[in-house]
Amino acid sequence: MSNKVLKLRKASLYEFTQNYSNKINNCIEFFKSMKWPNGFSCDRCGCHKYYLVKLVGKTKTSYVLECRSCK
Ligand SMILES: [Zn+2]
Repeated sequence: MSNKVLKLRKASLYEFTQNYSNKINNCIEFFKSMKWPNGFSCDRCGCHKYYLVKLVGKTKTSYVLECRSCK
């Protein structure tokens, strides 16, 4: 494998992950604005900070927001 090929592959991979994560972020923003119009707040403690947790399943990948304080 030459250096040139390696660079090209890296560049396209980077682009792909950028586009992909942008779409994911749009989905998450949409989901958040549906559930929390004023921004995330935990059902249990009212905390506004969260982790984004990726759940990889056999047929789909989903994302959940988890409170940072309740963990
Ligand atoms: Zn909480």
